[in-house]
Amino acid sequence: MADGYKILVVEDDAAVRRLVTTTLNLRGYACQEAKTANQALLELSTQPPDLVVLDLGLPDRDGVEVIRALREWSALPVIVLSARLEDADKVEALDAGADDYLVKPFSVEELLARVRVALRRLERERAMRGQAEESVYENGGLRIDYAAACVHRDGEELHLTPLEYKLLCLLARNTGKVLTHNYVLKEVWGSALASDRSSLRVFMATLRKKIEPDPAHPLYIQTHVGVGYRMMRVD
Ligand code: CA
Repeated sequence: MADGYKILVVEDDAAVRRLVTTTLNLRGYACQEAKTANQALLELSTQPPDLVVLDLGLPDRDGVEVIRALREWSALPVIVLSARLEDADKVEALDAGADDYLVKPFSVEELLARVRVALRRLERERAMRGQAEESVYENGGLRIDYAAACVHRDGEELHLTPLEYKLLCLLARNTGKVLTHNYVLKEVWGSALASDRSSLRVFMATLRKKIEPDPAHPLYIQTHVGVGYRMMRVD
């Protein structure tokens, strides 16, 4: 499946850059490299890749600025590499439009798993391009009929409140992408007050009880502690 995918690796640390490109090359992905934010933006505009792996700590400009600039004209998947443990950096990058993040040091398996998730989202988006918005969402045993506003799991109808339904639809439309607490609050409730975080947690818990076969081990909705949530593609 790696065939034909081009990945831009933006990283000023030569050792990390080599690790990432070697790992990706071994799996059949072609790589372009950039060491600075400006070089990255040049590559992105002149020979656009399919995916970007982007370090946040670059010598000339912050990686978040690269994401903001890129999002002006492109929706291609961005996986952020962060050396910083603070959630604020990841959250800022995700809010700017990144899809996912890895905290250094990361394993090559983690990197490859994130790349696969991002490329699946890209494939789906490419397949959907030019088509009307899908009227039915299917993922594993989960099925959302947008026109009828009803949800089934394994053939059984689930009874969701309007807010739970809205929350589920938002996650479903962004399958594969990590959504921050702020983003979810703004989209579903129209506000992003820190005090609303606890109600989001409560809504998420009740939604999970309804959609997850085993809410203690979620299959569909991943929690990213301190960051947000993601709907996973389930086979
Ligand atoms: Ca760096």
